[in-house]
Amino acid sequence: MNRHPTHKCVLALILTLLLCPSAAQQDPHAGERGRMVRDQLQARGIDDPATLEAMRTVPRHLYVPAGQERYAYQDRPLPIGYGQTISQPFIVGYMTQLVQPQAGQRVLEIGTGSGYQAAVLAEIVSWVYTIEIVPGLGERAARLLQEAYDNVAVRTGDGYFGWEEAGPFDAIVVTAAADHIPPPLVNQLREGGRMVIPVGSPFQVQMLMLVEKQNGQVTTRSLMPVRFVPFTRSRED
Ligand code: SAH
Repeated sequence: MNRHPTHKCVLALILTLLLCPSAAQQDPHAGERGRMVRDQLQARGIDDPATLEAMRTVPRHLYVPAGQERYAYQDRPLPIGYGQTISQPFIVGYMTQLVQPQAGQRVLEIGTGSGYQAAVLAEIVSWVYTIEIVPGLGERAARLLQEAYDNVAVRTGDGYFGWEEAGPFDAIVVTAAADHIPPPLVNQLREGGRMVIPVGSPFQVQMLMLVEKQNGQVTTRSLMPVRFVPFTRSRED
């Protein structure tokens, strides 16, 4: 039996791990993220390099509730408390690619939730403004996002009215399903800007819509059926 080559391999492996511990320790989830991007995003047609790179980078397991980390890279949404969910990775990738995010841009997100979508956007654009109506979620996401980014602002409140002082926005991403497109959000969209929003009744299949503003004209396009948590309102008006 020739055992020497095996020993040499083991020795080489130990040496590699000792000499570059970063390869083994720094990011134990990098492999899972790479597979998520390849199998869930690229395999389904998402090809925007900035979107793919951002989703390869953001540690999604930090944005799911404690104890759920092992499910973080699976092909599904996950509960994040308060009856809300972190969207499925494919949906995050699809919506991100759709608004064509670029360096230098300002983006508004309605429905911060876990903070994951905001983090993905913050990897690409210059400023992300995100609004969450559930204070407990908004506060947790603000803490996580502030640790990692200096270009994200989180506000707790009803996102129906947008964030007027920070606009206009190059892109608006709405991650809760509304029964109509809120006019204040359309107003805060910059000329040439794009908004993606699920529209339809709560707890039924909704339609993901793309809203574009070009030459002062607003056009809307239905893209695909989706299922999001409802867009709630802080008061009746
Ligand atoms: N983008 C999130 C997805 C969260 S689910 C993520 O990456 O995890 C949608 C979120 O929208 C929920 O947290 C819900 O509380 C929030 N939401 C619903 N109606 C809202 C409103 N009117 N204004 C702001 N946030 C709202």
